[in-house]
Amino acid sequence: MIGAGAAGSAAAYALARRGQEVLLLEQFHVGHERGSSFGPSRIFRLAYEEPDYAGLAQAALASWQALEVASGQPLYWRTGGLDLGPAGTPSLEAVYASLDALGAAPQRLARRELARRYPQWQVPPDWEAVYSPEAGIVSPERTLRVLTTLGRQHGARVLEGVAALDIELGTQPAVRTSRGVVTCDHLIVAAGAWLPRLVPQLQASLSVTLAASSFYRPEDISAFGPERFPVFITHDEFQAYGFPVFGVPGVKLGVDVARPVTSGDDRTFEVPPQVSGASDAFMRRFLPGASAVMERHTCLITRAPGGDFVLAPHPACLHITLASPCSGHGFKFTPLLGELLAARALGETHPWHLPRFAFPTPIGQTTEAQPLPGGL
Ligand SMILES: Cc1cc2nc3c(=O)[nH]c(=O)nc-3n(C[C@H](O)[C@H](O)[C@H](O)COP(=O)(O)OP(=O)(O)OC[C@H]3O[C@@H](n4cnc5c(N)ncnc54)[C@H](O)[C@@H]3O)c2cc1C
Repeated sequence: MIGAGAAGSAAAYALARRGQEVLLLEQFHVGHERGSSFGPSRIFRLAYEEPDYAGLAQAALASWQALEVASGQPLYWRTGGLDLGPAGTPSLEAVYASLDALGAAPQRLARRELARRYPQWQVPPDWEAVYSPEAGIVSPERTLRVLTTLGRQHGARVLEGVAALDIELGTQPAVRTSRGVVTCDHLIVAAGAWLPRLVPQLQASLSVTLAASSFYRPEDISAFGPERFPVFITHDEFQAYGFPVFGVPGVKLGVDVARPVTSGDDRTFEVPPQVSGASDAFMRRFLPGASAVMERHTCLITRAPGGDFVLAPHPACLHITLASPCSGHGFKFTPLLGELLAARALGETHPWHLPRFAFPTPIGQTTEAQPLPGGL
């Protein structure tokens, strides 16, 4: 298996737990900050406009709970979630309808009710919010630690600092690494932003972009804790998403205003000025009690067409599975995706393996990031 990010670590654990011999290669170290799966927090939510992903998220919630039991550690923190924007915005209406259809008890909060329950927010008079009770936080740094520890306990070998250089197709795929050649019965390539380099057939379909998060120090830290301040997404020109104080003593914010196209090797770690400017402006305007910037980070988003995931056989080799479950919203499904990948490697059909995870059709070349599918 190549890549110990969320997808590879979850697949390694799922296969090792089922008694399979597993070797997981990671070019850097588990939890490194050059890919997509690091940091304290990702949003978990059920609210998807697409029923496929809403159902997948419900199934994923059960898989998080199973992983919590297996590890004896909390891995999902329920904070509730707020979707905010001008009343009547179609995507906000869609969030409400999707949660309602799932029986997830969404609540509409008019501006006055929003101000009463969450006085941290200063929104324009025509805004409203949809509150979703099941939304919360899942944590890349904790999850990767748990998955690789449990995987190792079940016999998986996780080799850090070993890069896969190229892949030879065949009934027993071979991987040439920086430390020699390894052959296997089935190879899973979960290489994140490096996948298009290892599998050139994906270069025309996957786009890699640079996203950024900023952390802001609140004046009153208790007002922005997970019990009082839900995760959020805005349906406005900022397309912002954010978190309460969790793991780091600051409110975390991302804005989807610009994501330069890059690659795993060519990326920079610099936050584009228009992103930091928009992020700071958002906090000053909507959350003025937490507007002093503390730190910023960059992260890579590997997007498949339509914001879908790729969990598919290599087009020229059935003994290789390609895994690109990012598209900016994949982390919430991590333990379930591990089970899906394990099932594929063992030739089984998992009930949540959706037709939309097939090998993608190429998109036209682009120099601009495409929007994410209905938020995170
Ligand atoms: C800014 C940002 C915000 C996000 N927010 C959310 C959110 O709120 N909610 C949500 O659900 N999801 C979110 N996501 C998406 C989520 O983080 C990703 O879906 C997930 O982390 C993807 O994991 P991965 O395993 O596919 O890729 P990665 O984590 O990048 O893992 C790939 C691994 O493969 C390794 N590798 C690559 N090439 C080789 C090689 N040749 N040899 C050996 N190892 C190799 C890499 O070093 C890396 O460790 C967000 C993503 C970003 C970037």
